[in-house]
Amino acid sequence: MRKNIFITISLALLFCATCVVAEPSAGEKEVLDKVIKGAISDLVEDNAIFASLTAPEHFKEFQDIQNPRVTMVMCSDSRVQVDNFSQGAENDIFVARNIGNQFITTKGSVEFGVDVLKTPVLIFVGHSGCGAIKAARGDISEIQPGIRKELGTLDVKSAPDDKQGVILNVHNQVARAMEDFKEKVSAGRLAIIGAVYDFRNDYGYGQGQLIIVNLNGEKDLAKIKESHYFDDKKEVTVGIKSEEPKKEAGS
Ligand SMILES: [Zn+2]
Repeated sequence: MRKNIFITISLALLFCATCVVAEPSAGEKEVLDKVIKGAISDLVEDNAIFASLTAPEHFKEFQDIQNPRVTMVMCSDSRVQVDNFSQGAENDIFVARNIGNQFITTKGSVEFGVDVLKTPVLIFVGHSGCGAIKAARGDISEIQPGIRKELGTLDVKSAPDDKQGVILNVHNQVARAMEDFKEKVSAGRLAIIGAVYDFRNDYGYGQGQLIIVNLNGEKDLAKIKESHYFDDKKEVTVGIKSEEPKKEAGS
């Protein structure tokens, strides 16, 4: 997707007061029209390029039925995309997205992935710099009702900071999903994973890493690492590095 940075910034400025729908000035209208036309034509053109470069054989395997291995709940944040975790997500990752990568606000979609499509893995993906977590840790009383409702189901105020809030939220989502799917997990038919995608290197593993922080409710990183699920993948990134400063002896 090609983007005009000036137009993107202009759009953000025009829409920053989301609750006030003022009549745009002639100048603003011109910018808005350009942005909307550009976005539509980019989408259509990018799709046309994809369609022209993709042979019919590519679609054969899944054109009549989907058979994903993973149900993924991701934040809607545009900086986090399925492509970051898969070389080919088509027919492999069933995705439900919402602000704050929550179970409860997309429960039906998750149940469809786990119970109907029977994916053996359910993964919740939080991410660094999550605006939903930041907002939910503050005062949301003035935010418009729809957004407030979705932020209101996040329980992250007890975290000491936003970075820990992202992790706490992932733990919360896994815990909530464990309640609904505990029989499948006990039977070994489902693994529920909590992870954080870090595009800012907030957690010290490097930018772009997917960091696993929870496996079926287990938060002990040593135990997660020892899980037989990771037998053939020893280099898997597990756990958040401690940010606690090392204490001097005797302090
Ligand atoms: Zn987010």
